[in-house]
Amino acid sequence: MGLMSMFGQPKEQAETFPFQLTDTEWRERLTPEQYRILRGHGTERAGSCALNYEKRAGTFSCVGCGQKLFTSHKKFESGTGWPSFDQPLEGAVGATEDFSHGMHRVEVHCANCGGHLGHVFPDGPPPTGLRYCINGEVMTFEPAEA
Ligand SMILES: [Zn+2]
Repeated sequence: MGLMSMFGQPKEQAETFPFQLTDTEWRERLTPEQYRILRGHGTERAGSCALNYEKRAGTFSCVGCGQKLFTSHKKFESGTGWPSFDQPLEGAVGATEDFSHGMHRVEVHCANCGGHLGHVFPDGPPPTGLRYCINGEVMTFEPAEA
């Protein structure tokens, strides 16, 4: 069965997002690596981002627009070298089918700015069975108040 069916009807490719910047503004706002991933559908090197090893309680947000995406209690150690979650915050991310690199995957992006975050795979732990494989470079982490 198609993983996309879990996300409702396929969206138009020309989806527009509430938070919009020009290309110049994105380049000013992001580091070159963040721009490459978030705006260019890039992927960071596995194990390269410190957020992969973040164990504290807190919230992960989009580096592009600040939208809260994931909480730490939905994070799990997937062994892939990328921060992995079994569930995003309600309404925080969108998904599109991705046929790049000769694979059929489901791409995950920020629902507010449309920035590319990573992919979702159907091999995560229960109860969702999903693995959101996210580039840590395009998220910020805010520890919960102690
Ligand atoms: Zn965003």
